[in-house]
Amino acid sequence: MRPSTSNGPEKNFSAEKCLGSHFSGNSACMRSEPKAVLLDRDGTIVVDVPYNGDPDRVVAMPGALETLNTLRADGVPLGVLTNQSGIARGLITEHQVAAVNQRVDAVLGPFDVWEICPHGPDDGCTCRKPAPGMILRACEKLGLHPSEVAFIGDIGADVEAAAAAGAMGVLVPTPVTRQEEIDAAPLKADTLAEAVALLRGAA
Ligand SMILES: [Mg+2]
Ligand SMILES: [Zn+2]
Repeated sequence: MRPSTSNGPEKNFSAEKCLGSHFSGNSACMRSEPKAVLLDRDGTIVVDVPYNGDPDRVVAMPGALETLNTLRADGVPLGVLTNQSGIARGLITEHQVAAVNQRVDAVLGPFDVWEICPHGPDDGCTCRKPAPGMILRACEKLGLHPSEVAFIGDIGADVEAAAAAGAMGVLVPTPVTRQEEIDAAPLKADTLAEAVALLRGAA
């Protein structure tokens, strides 16, 4: 199925997305392909296993490796940004999360940037999505402006974090993504591959 935007033809979305940009003036808003692609982990590049602390339960989303390798082949830096409130909730340890991430890196990596939020929803941190902290930090590490990067995730908090950072967000829903989050997403695609094609103007 063709990836869809809520606002008509893809050729128009570049300018629209500039509303979230930190640049002023339209000339800086000629968005081209993202200079880096940042990705949510659970439900986006690996199958979501809630509060997973077991590397053996890491399973790549279908087609994810191929899609990521296409970007790597073109020299596009990749990052993974993941909320891991299971740490704050005492359900998993930082060590377990690190072990799971190591497996994700072995199966789907290498990734240029990793950002993990260990906090809970009530901790008031600036990194837990929908806050933009992890995107901003990843951009800093990559030496890119948020408007130059894209963030792909499977829930509304991912899209909101992208908007808050001034990055382009794309929602790739799973069967558990809430309908109102799908309705609210300005850019969405059926698969990771289609999301990347949409971002790169090939969709
Ligand atoms: Mg997710
Ligand atoms: Zn945090």
